[in-house]
Amino acid sequence: MASSVDARIAEVAVTLYRVPLPRPWVSAAYTITHHEHTLVELTLENGLTGTGWSTTLGVAGAAVAAMIKSYLAPMCIGRSAHDHEALWSDLWRHCHQPGSGGISAIAVAGIDLALWDLRGKLAGMPVRRLLGGGADSVPVYASAANLNLAEHKLVEQTKQFLDAGNRLFKIKIGSEDADQDVSRVAAVRNVIGSLPLMLDANQRFKPGEALRRIAMLERFNPVWLEEPMLSEDIDNHARLAAQSRIPIALGEELSSRYEFWRYISSGAVSYVQPNVHKVGGISEWMKIAHIGMGANLTMAPQGALEASAIVASALPGCYPIENIDSGSFTDQGILEEPLRVEGGRVHLSPEPGLGVRFNREAMEAYRAPSDLTVSIVDRQKYINEKERDGGGDSRPAGRSAV
Ligand SMILES: [Mg+2]
Repeated sequence: MASSVDARIAEVAVTLYRVPLPRPWVSAAYTITHHEHTLVELTLENGLTGTGWSTTLGVAGAAVAAMIKSYLAPMCIGRSAHDHEALWSDLWRHCHQPGSGGISAIAVAGIDLALWDLRGKLAGMPVRRLLGGGADSVPVYASAANLNLAEHKLVEQTKQFLDAGNRLFKIKIGSEDADQDVSRVAAVRNVIGSLPLMLDANQRFKPGEALRRIAMLERFNPVWLEEPMLSEDIDNHARLAAQSRIPIALGEELSSRYEFWRYISSGAVSYVQPNVHKVGGISEWMKIAHIGMGANLTMAPQGALEASAIVASALPGCYPIENIDSGSFTDQGILEEPLRVEGGRVHLSPEPGLGVRFNREAMEAYRAPSDLTVSIVDRQKYINEKERDGGGDSRPAGRSAV
């Protein structure tokens, strides 16, 4: 085990990649052609490097990278990787001027994951074991942003997922024509029989319409209806949850334990779906999970397969994680060691740390312009600037400001 001095952060490097999806994602809310992965490398004084990442779906990756480079990376210099919780809190509070959710939380997540990677490497064990999890693999459900597919193509895709060993499925709904949704759900039900099926409306409906759509879909016995309405609208979700015969799932656009607490305490959600990147990383995800478990709800990690697998493996009773077609790093061809997904399970790496090693050579073609995205904050340069500015403390200025 390294000493706390050895674990001090000396350098931060930030790199943004815009990776094209093998197939575009289309839902009732968006069309997405690229994923943006902001990679964060924290290097300790002893030379050990931890790599984290945060993902945006085609929007704001440059802003996330700039947020880390300009405002958060300097706060990490000189801090110990073992000071993880305090550093996370300092970073998160520092983000309150522009708002603690959205870009801020996604930026903090990149650093949080790098800290976890470091802590795993320092301890010589996978992060899931540090979190208390013993599972080497976790179940997945097959998911796709497939609202653009003609019904026969949707059926074809579902058969492919079934043939690949999947036993749980999610499809997009939210077509303008409600009968078209019903027809698509019926077609998928016909393929999968009584196997679990989830429906995702991506916030498409207004309150009255949501209830009407639910009445049309409840005979297909879905596990949940995901994001029926705008995620900001807690009150109407609470009213809907009280009347709906389909359980409500949501959380992918919420940013913090506080937002989840409001939903959970309002009785507005049954399946709680935080996204590791949107909530500020693994640290905050686990706190939200404990709030959800305290309300006897089911945690269902949203997207982010590689990060979700780690938290799910450490959480007894966690719902199978979401494996979105074209969404994993393996699907995108950017890992040195692809994560094995077979028989409806994803197998985690036994390596110390997060177990996710990016293939930088394969990613080079997707690297965003360096003037926007690449930064190495050197410890000595930072100290020199502090002294020049009359500070003299090797700790980041942001720390004393919070
Ligand atoms: Mg969704």
